[in-house]
Amino acid sequence: MTALSDLRPPPTAVPPHRPVTARPTAAPAVPTDGQPVGTQPGGRGLRAPATRICSRPARALAPAPTPVPAPAPAPASVPAPAPARAPGRRPSDRADQPTDQPADCPADARGAWLRFAPVQPLFRARAAQRLAVLAYHGVTDPRSFGAQLDRLRRLATPVSLTAVQEAVAEQRPLPARSVLVTFDDADRSVLTHALPALIERDIPAAAFVISELIGTERPFWWHEADFLARHGGRARSLDCGHPSQLLRRLKAMPDPDRRRSLQELRVSADRRPPGQQQLTPADLLALREGGVAIGNHTQGHPCLGRCDDDTVRAEITGAHEALTRWLGEPPIAFAYPDGGHDDRAESVLQELGYRLGFLSDHRLGPRLPSHPLQISRLQVDSTTSTRRFDTILSGLEPAYRRWRGQAA
Ligand SMILES: [Zn+2]
Repeated sequence: MTALSDLRPPPTAVPPHRPVTARPTAAPAVPTDGQPVGTQPGGRGLRAPATRICSRPARALAPAPTPVPAPAPAPASVPAPAPARAPGRRPSDRADQPTDQPADCPADARGAWLRFAPVQPLFRARAAQRLAVLAYHGVTDPRSFGAQLDRLRRLATPVSLTAVQEAVAEQRPLPARSVLVTFDDADRSVLTHALPALIERDIPAAAFVISELIGTERPFWWHEADFLARHGGRARSLDCGHPSQLLRRLKAMPDPDRRRSLQELRVSADRRPPGQQQLTPADLLALREGGVAIGNHTQGHPCLGRCDDDTVRAEITGAHEALTRWLGEPPIAFAYPDGGHDDRAESVLQELGYRLGFLSDHRLGPRLPSHPLQISRLQVDSTTSTRRFDTILSGLEPAYRRWRGQAA
């Protein structure tokens, strides 16, 4: 569990952000909460060539000398918004999301009232001097996702994967309020829902691809396992325990056992899962053309920590070769399946010339990443309310979750 002191804001005054005029956007206006409106130097034209982003070095923030109490509960007069739930959403839609931490319902209500916590402005000021990398999966609620992007356009500085790579290469911190939008697993909704919204608002992004699914109608393995278990599928290693723990238990197994259990579920279930149309190589090119960089997310999305050395290497190099073939150039960025860092994976990434690697640790990171192959990300969802979205961006909600022992 994280110490309560993690909730302390920095003691030093963060320089006020220079209010500037927001760039015009076709998106509907979102009421501001009094934060200054930032420019978007990193939000370059989606089809424009990569541009350099210059900024002053990040100001070092000294440790907090005195404890600050945890945020008080919201006053009774501040109603928590009802959680926004996407229709048809399954609990295991996101393999990288901790299975015991639903992104909505209680979490959404808690994140919403945290926005009114006295320390939220201080967290927001501190976050302005950090890099926020948002880790989405599919976009199940395009309207809510659009509202989140509007929020970023007004209050943050969207940057591209290339901008982060150049900042690392040149040892030059990214601009204040930098935010990089990423998607793991490359669900088809990234193309159908996310891309139009990103283009409309001129926000770059990155999508991390499971290469063996590209061009197929195979479902994600966690969706398949859930379906098979609900249709009579049985596996020796899964015979006991509650069905809701299926994904957790599969992810905890050594990878050969996970594969064997999946096969047992397939042969014993009374129905086959419906197909799930995946992106094609042409779709990857369309995403890249629209400003969404394509990165590696392994061949088959195993938990790397449960794989032997040969499998770790094969999962990364197999996806690397396929992406290089489809894109005409090698990918430079990798997202660890399930978000957990793996030393063996990092060694392979270094050998292959990767510049950036992304975790899912629900943290902000420095504006000049100190470990480019271990860049922190914040877990968000397209259904997250804008109020909770604000507290995630500020780092307050992640700090609160760590304090409660609910996050990495
Ligand atoms: Zn993933």
